[in-house]
Amino acid sequence: MLHSTVLMIQVAALGLCLWLESVVPLFLREPGQRAQHGIRNVVIGLVNGVVLTGGFSALVLAAVRWGAVHPVGLLHWASLPPWTERLIGFIAFDLWMYLWHRANHNVSWLWRFHRVHHSDLAVDVTTALRFHLGEMILSTLLRLAVIPLLGITLGDLVLYELILQPVIYFHHSNIALPERWDRLMRLAVVSPNMHRVHHSDVPVETNSNYASVFSVWDRLGCTYRRRDVRTIHYGLKEFLQPQWQTLVGLLRTPMA
Ligand SMILES: [Zn+2]
Ligand SMILES: [Zn+2]
Repeated sequence: MLHSTVLMIQVAALGLCLWLESVVPLFLREPGQRAQHGIRNVVIGLVNGVVLTGGFSALVLAAVRWGAVHPVGLLHWASLPPWTERLIGFIAFDLWMYLWHRANHNVSWLWRFHRVHHSDLAVDVTTALRFHLGEMILSTLLRLAVIPLLGITLGDLVLYELILQPVIYFHHSNIALPERWDRLMRLAVVSPNMHRVHHSDVPVETNSNYASVFSVWDRLGCTYRRRDVRTIHYGLKEFLQPQWQTLVGLLRTPMA
């Protein structure tokens, strides 16, 4: 029941972004190419979703239960009011996501997998689904340790996913959000213009703006960057050829 509610909210957020991209696109794209690109990324997202749900959700649940029975995690160190614990849990998990994302750029073998997300030449809402299965499995396995170490509950995890996914869809979307609104948004959370810089083909820009939900992590970590996104080129220069944009090419990207 809970899982289907989360899924419904995610599908609704994806649909809303797809519609807004059609109505107010930042970069104009030919409909046929847009559909082909979108379908490919959605297929990757569906395969990842099926494998992770089928193969790893029981392990994640076991980690949550172990953490509840053995209260060694950060959130158990002080007896705080429940809502404070939930808030700290959310913030701490978002910090973990920032650090994990930075590691994906700085550790060469992790970067091999993460390149699949960055080799997209036409970033839009579906890019939010374009991750190599290897990266998703590694991320899930590490969560098995992070969950008890932080003392995260199942409720914390569901709430984080519930907020994370629409935020990620929105900041990848090809929606022309007025700069004034974007600036206001990125005071608190990652905005489309902030994350577009992360998908630039200029290496110093690729290695910036790592945050997932709260933009503060990039400001604190000195990884925050801005630029005029209207002249941006997306992708990675070593994966410009069409062969790297096919499903097989994406699967082979870590070995390239
Ligand atoms: Zn990245
Ligand atoms: Zn991205």
